[in-house]
Amino acid sequence: MLSRAATATLTAATHGSDPAATLTATIHTAGQVATVLLIVIIAVAFYLFTCLVWPFGKCRRCKGVGKFKSPFGRAYRHCGKCDGSGLRVRVGRHVINHMRAVRGAGENSTTGRGKR
Ligand SMILES: [Zn+2]
Repeated sequence: MLSRAATATLTAATHGSDPAATLTATIHTAGQVATVLLIVIIAVAFYLFTCLVWPFGKCRRCKGVGKFKSPFGRAYRHCGKCDGSGLRVRVGRHVINHMRAVRGAGENSTTGRGKR
C-alpha cells in the first residue's frame, strides 16, 4: 500500500506529466488493441473448444469423488451438489448450450417450418 503510493508519486515526479494519460496513450494504439483483442478471442475460442470436447470438470465441493465418507465406519453420503456423480458442467459448456438453444430456437421459428 505505502510503497505503491510512493512509486506512483515517484513516477509522477520523474515524468512530470500525468502518468495515467501517458499510460493510456501507450496502450491504446490501434494495432496493440487489435493484437490484444485477437489474443483474447483466440483464448476464448480455445476455451470454448475444450469445453466442447471435455464438457465436465471435477465437482468443487467433493473434488470429483461424488461422495463424502463418514469419519465413523464405512458409511458415506452422496454429494448434494453433483448428486453423487462427481461431475461439474464447465462454465464454457453452459455458454455453448445457451448458444445452441438460442440458435436452435431461431432455426425452428424461421427455416424449420417449410422443411418439416
Ligand atoms: Zn460433488
